[in-house]
Amino acid sequence: MATKSVAKEAEEILLATEMIRLGARLQVLQAETNLSYDRLARLYREIKGCSPPKGMLPFSVDWFMTWLPNIHSSLFYSVYKYMDTYTPAKKAHALVEAYRMYLEQASAGRPDGADDEPVLSFTRAWMLVRFFDSNMLQLSTCTRCKGGFVAHAHDPQGDFVCAICRPPPRAGKTRARKSSPDDDAAIIPQAASKAVGPRAAGQRAARPSGTLSG
Ligand SMILES: [Zn+2]
Repeated sequence: MATKSVAKEAEEILLATEMIRLGARLQVLQAETNLSYDRLARLYREIKGCSPPKGMLPFSVDWFMTWLPNIHSSLFYSVYKYMDTYTPAKKAHALVEAYRMYLEQASAGRPDGADDEPVLSFTRAWMLVRFFDSNMLQLSTCTRCKGGFVAHAHDPQGDFVCAICRPPPRAGKTRARKSSPDDDAAIIPQAASKAVGPRAAGQRAARPSGTLSG
């Protein structure tokens, strides 16, 4: 620890600061920088004015397969991949840049001042990249719109149709996301058969559509 570069540390503090502003959890900062837990926690409190939340990160691949999260995640990951491949921004920096761009796109068309939580949080976006890096996910090309969409790795792609071209019947029926954010997550049919455990699939798929109107 004696010979730690000050410039490198300054760079990491800047990166951590940006990530905290975008909503990163402490575990994300620990993974992406070499700063100590204490320094990161202090930085977090300085920026956010409160202690970092405790508890586990949201660890679910299936979340990315539900209808609306799938669309948002696919948009984000396509931007991320472009950034990481074709611009000087790599890895964590590509993540920050891509997430900023995602926020811009996700809020486009919404009334000013509507500060709903974004569908894809920064921490989830980071998890998504990790899942791709560990080959648990792939981008499947939609046979209709030719867009790339987040799918389970090794899912057959031959007749893949995305969540925009073939939305589930309930899609867009509810605007009441605030009451229970998880409720408007309809499982994409192709993903449901393979990826989702019978309990979750049954629970969500069997919910009558009428209960969510509002
Ligand atoms: Zn499509």
